[in-house]
Amino acid sequence: MGSLRDCTWILGLAAYRVTGLERQLDGRLVVTLERRGLRQYVCSGCGRRTGHVRDAKVRLWDDLPWAEHPVTLRYSLRRLWCRHCGIRTERVGFADPHARLTRRFRQRIGLDCQSMPTSHAAVRHAVSWGTARRAERTFLQAWDRTRPKHRPRHLGVDEIQRGKGQHFWTVLSDLVRGEVIGLQQDRSEDSLRTLLKDRLEARQRAAVEAVCMDMHRPYLNVVTEVLSRAEAVFDKFHVLQHASAALDEVRRQEFFRAGPVMRTHGRGTRWLLRRWKIVRGSTRRAAGALRGQSPTVQSVCLAGAARSALDI
Ligand SMILES: [Zn+2]
Repeated sequence: MGSLRDCTWILGLAAYRVTGLERQLDGRLVVTLERRGLRQYVCSGCGRRTGHVRDAKVRLWDDLPWAEHPVTLRYSLRRLWCRHCGIRTERVGFADPHARLTRRFRQRIGLDCQSMPTSHAAVRHAVSWGTARRAERTFLQAWDRTRPKHRPRHLGVDEIQRGKGQHFWTVLSDLVRGEVIGLQQDRSEDSLRTLLKDRLEARQRAAVEAVCMDMHRPYLNVVTEVLSRAEAVFDKFHVLQHASAALDEVRRQEFFRAGPVMRTHGRGTRWLLRRWKIVRGSTRRAAGALRGQSPTVQSVCLAGAARSALDI
């Protein structure tokens, strides 16, 4: 045991064999690789095979650790002369072009980032925060490309605020599965139209039965235009907000119509009337007396009671 052949077996890269091992002072293991098999290389531009090697340059990739030892792979990357692309580097089987991490190492970091903060994953794998963040982003992009395309029946559209000031993003989500379908900057008609047309295919759009949103006119316009068969459903919070504002307006009008004498009875009673069922003692008696005062004050009370009923 302990031969380079065993190291090749441990490394587990089918098209490569280990030709050297080097221990560094910090405990890092540098594994030197070489291709095995035919001397033909895959062009990174077009994917065709060619044997015309122009030169080679040593490149390093971080890989999964061996026990507690971080591992770096060292390989002489060839530059090829491809008849279709010109001069290109060869494509290696274990990493993406221009990447400094192997594909499986990046996958491990990205997976860890789903269950812990990015900074913790970076420390755990001895990489910088930026490297961990890029690995996570690539992992999520790969997942997004391969996840199954469901046909959502009920969609949700809302805006979220990002950063300071009036910077909003539009969020499109599948309400049944509880997953975000897409994000788009701004909360305009264009942003929602882009989301609906880019993130959903025609067969997915055809399956939508209802879209829940707040009472934002641009969203309603786009839903009516793009998803003409779907129902637009306004969420309860915004409906109550508008009903509450309308009742307040009625109450205000009644209050000022009551005249200066009656106004003294109604002043400062908005919250009292709203909560008159639960207040006790002298406050309760004051609320009761106010309710018995006059038709004008009663109309004010009715507005308050209706508010209470709406704010269940
Ligand atoms: Zn090529």
